[in-house]
Amino acid sequence: MHEMSLCESLLQILEDNARSQGFTRVKTVWLEIGGLSGVETQAMHFGFEVVTRGTLADQAKLEVIAVPGQAWCIQCSKTVPVQQRFDACPDCGSYQLQVTGGDDMKIKELEVE
Ligand SMILES: [Zn+2]
Repeated sequence: MHEMSLCESLLQILEDNARSQGFTRVKTVWLEIGGLSGVETQAMHFGFEVVTRGTLADQAKLEVIAVPGQAWCIQCSKTVPVQQRFDACPDCGSYQLQVTGGDDMKIKELEVE
């Protein structure tokens, strides 16, 4: 499962931050997941719980913030919302879109102690 390795990288980031910022427990993680990232929120919740067991983030809450996909339409010269990576522009129907946002996953905020 792809999400499991994402959770492992996430835990790695938490541990690195704990070392550099001097906290010992993670209570809440706010995670932004882009609509075009292909990451499944439910699988992340499951993976997070499994991966963090017995770590500094044991029992931590995972709050997922869904970020809508965005792309730049060359025809319209503007940013348009997209649901899927190879969608057409909702305004002009062009496929000349460049994804500009919502295609990744990142930590937005941490609650630590
Ligand atoms: Zn367009």
